[in-house]
Amino acid sequence: MSAVLEGRGLRHAYGATPVLGGVDLALEPGEVVALLGPSGSGKSTLLHLLAGLLRPDAGEVWLAGERFDPLSERRRSDLRLRQMGFVFQLGDLVPELTIAENVELPLRLTGVRATSARAQALAMLDRLGVSEHAHKRVSEVSGGQAQRGAVARALVHRPPVVLADEPTGSLDTTTGELVLEALVDAATAQGTAVLLVTHELRVAAWAHRDVLLRDGSVLGGAGSGVAVAATAVGA
Ligand code: ADP
Repeated sequence: MSAVLEGRGLRHAYGATPVLGGVDLALEPGEVVALLGPSGSGKSTLLHLLAGLLRPDAGEVWLAGERFDPLSERRRSDLRLRQMGFVFQLGDLVPELTIAENVELPLRLTGVRATSARAQALAMLDRLGVSEHAHKRVSEVSGGQAQRGAVARALVHRPPVVLADEPTGSLDTTTGELVLEALVDAATAQGTAVLLVTHELRVAAWAHRDVLLRDGSVLGGAGSGVAVAATAVGA
């Protein structure tokens, strides 16, 4: 099966400080991959490279069969909007909008009509178990409910890829587990690949496999548990 998102030999330095020394990472359709690594190991840098928000010093990024990294900013933005979803820590929903209006955004921005966008947003919120909060503003719902809204917004346009950066980092453990379960279930059901960036082993446990970023390159990746085991023993 061909990868939906792939980084090949990615290198990146900030000034004279090398961060990534040739990273290979491929996401297959529908798989959930945890990207583990201690703080400062380059997880966010890799995420930004894969999202086309940063250009690599060397290496290539491929998105849905197309070389992505050398494209113009405009083309990368357009592909990012259509082919990717993002979940961050709490706080990235637009507070002036309702949860449903937030979820409609990726659809409306790509030309989907209002009635269809609303129906798709409500269906996704229902799937994530928060349909009763659809018409509330962000300030009127709990952190976990808002984060389900963020997950719904990331998935609603059925992108091939979702990049999730510490998506439960601001939630308590129980709420975080429920949000992760909802994310993994909904993404897997529609064949969306998820890159789950985290420094927490319990978050990585939700992934189908895990990779560990260490000293500028990736360990593991062949099968589940390699990176978790390496992290657990402090390798
Ligand atoms: P992580 O997400 O794993 O915590 P980052 O990718 O944020 O790691 O950072 C990797 C390294 O690059 C760190 O040493 C960090 O200080 C450095 N770094 C990150 N962003 C910048 C930047 N914009 N300018 C200079 N150094 C940066």
